[in-house]
Amino acid sequence: MSISTSVLAELLNALPHWRSQMYFKSSLTALSHAMEDRILAGTDAPLAIASFQRERFYRQEAHRYRRIAQRGDQVYVLSAPETDFTNHSGDYETIAFDSSDALAQEWHLIIISSQYTNCLICRERSNPNTHPLQNAIDNNRRFEGIWTFDREVTLKAAEILLDRIAIYRPELSEKIEQARHQYLVPRSASSRRQTPEISPEVNPDPFVQRLVTYLQASQYKLLKAYRSIAAQEQRERLIHLMTVAIRQSLDPDEILEIAVEKLGQVLGACRCLVYRCKESDKTAKIKHEFLDAEIQSAHNHTWPLANNPLFQEVLTHRESICIADTVSDERLNPQQLSQSLQDLIQNFSIASWLLVPIFYKNKLQGIVELHHCGPIQENWTREEVSLVEAVATQMGVALIQAESYANLEDLNQQLEALDRTRSNLVAITGHELRTPLSTIQICLESLSSEPDMAEELRDVMLSTALEDAERMRKLIQDFLTLSQLESGRVEWNPETLSLEECISLSLSNTVARRGRANVPEIVAPITHDLPLVYADGEWLVEVLAKLLDNACKFSDPDSQIRIEAYPRSDHWIEVMVADNGRGIEPKRLKNVFDRFYQEEGALQRTTGGTGLGLAICRQIIQRWQGEIWAESAGKNQGSQFYFTVPLADVQAPLMPPKTSSGKTKKKRESL
Ligand code: ADP
Repeated sequence: MSISTSVLAELLNALPHWRSQMYFKSSLTALSHAMEDRILAGTDAPLAIASFQRERFYRQEAHRYRRIAQRGDQVYVLSAPETDFTNHSGDYETIAFDSSDALAQEWHLIIISSQYTNCLICRERSNPNTHPLQNAIDNNRRFEGIWTFDREVTLKAAEILLDRIAIYRPELSEKIEQARHQYLVPRSASSRRQTPEISPEVNPDPFVQRLVTYLQASQYKLLKAYRSIAAQEQRERLIHLMTVAIRQSLDPDEILEIAVEKLGQVLGACRCLVYRCKESDKTAKIKHEFLDAEIQSAHNHTWPLANNPLFQEVLTHRESICIADTVSDERLNPQQLSQSLQDLIQNFSIASWLLVPIFYKNKLQGIVELHHCGPIQENWTREEVSLVEAVATQMGVALIQAESYANLEDLNQQLEALDRTRSNLVAITGHELRTPLSTIQICLESLSSEPDMAEELRDVMLSTALEDAERMRKLIQDFLTLSQLESGRVEWNPETLSLEECISLSLSNTVARRGRANVPEIVAPITHDLPLVYADGEWLVEVLAKLLDNACKFSDPDSQIRIEAYPRSDHWIEVMVADNGRGIEPKRLKNVFDRFYQEEGALQRTTGGTGLGLAICRQIIQRWQGEIWAESAGKNQGSQFYFTVPLADVQAPLMPPKTSSGKTKKKRESL
């Protein structure tokens, strides 16, 4: 059985001149206890009706009701059962109602004795927005209703509740009727029956009323204190979270993501944004956003800054801006506002707006924005603003810290690379330069000190000196080429080219350099209809020549080298130079492009070379944003080197970047 009408509503309906008042739970508990104590202190047999929201509340008071029941037999206790509370006739009558019944939200106590009448008829006011900490404090629960000694009200309330009890427990109708007859009699009738009038001394109304007011005021103060503790706790938790996040992450994006998420959640905003910007920025891109459900996302949207009066105000006053209502705020007067900002407010339904700058040492790092988008305007409280400001301060520190770390990392990597280059250079110089230099020196010394040397020996001496001089020249040449490419100091003349012609040019270079006998068979089945490419011819031939040179160097002269080229997509042609020579271990495939990488190391090298050839190739290919990579099944399984060149008709977006000075770069230095 469940009745959905509230007893309080029914009472107020019957007595429209009565107004309900707000009571904290602690006040109701005190009042109820005082009312019950009064019965226990007296001698007469009253009518007592108590309605508890839930069985657990009744359990706390059950012993009192057993004692009250000793005063008389008209005692009724109602409650929503949780364990074993049922309809029962024992010391007193218990009446169980359904948890969906309106009574489950109400708290009633009615006492009618021959001396006085007193009732408490209240309904709980639920507040879903209450912070969990406040909810946890049970005494802060609030009720609205009537507490009075007024006879008319008490009798009416008793009548309503007795009617209900008769519905829940019809078998008690006779007993209820008896209660009505005995207790629900108006004052005149009761006096006719010689029931004593309520004397002013007996009615403690003014005193108790004051006590209740005092109790209520203290509870209210307590509630306010809890609220401020809760706000403080919330603020500290968030700041702590931010600090932990900062300590754990040195990634600015991660830091901003955490901040936006936490702020949005804690402040219950519809949208929270954080964007990085400098004072001179004209716009900002939204990369970090928290969104409440069904709110339009601003992610990746461009936020206006230059013509945004709010941003300019933040810069001028260097403090936050709170706007409770974007419609009525003077700063956002549509007559003076740029179209882009009007669109922004409209498109993103910004009703209330909070902008908090992120500064580090007075330098702007970004902005935190919070929006409410609902139809009801929201005033930003001082606590909310100071919370966002505190988090913004942490963010400023975090961002600078993360950036310094990133710079340090970069610098470290550069230093490590420099150090590697330096030690490699020392090793190469030690071997590649000193060895041929000493050979040249010995040869020349012998030639000059032995004028009678046999002609054959002279020729050997001369050609050895010349060969070693050539080796040295090549190393220095490669070294210079690589440093020019790396520093961007080379002239770049892209043009439309036939790949076939470049391949044959690199072939003849290789044969001329190595001698026909030292070059394995080279097959290049390139079709004439291969599309034209767009690149600097000189550099393209250099890449091909270096790959061919390596293929010759690391294969037997009686093996075969294969060059293939085919369109890879609408934009690129892929070129392959494959040999079936000594191959590369798969785990080394990436390293071969590193400067000075050589499988044997500088000192055990048998094939000559500088370890710079592939690093040069990679630099050249990167200039046209192509790719270069190597494949090999492993040792003695041959190697395949691939690279991509842009097709001629899509050259425009692939043009290499110009120098910052805009001047023509130097032509390649050559020795
Ligand atoms: P090097 O002048 O030493 O050839 P490169 O930069 O051209 O310098 O090549 C670096 C290293 O990559 C070589 O020393 C060799 O170990 C490996 N490598 C390059 N091409 C091949 C290939 N075709 N087959 C096997 N190993 C190769």
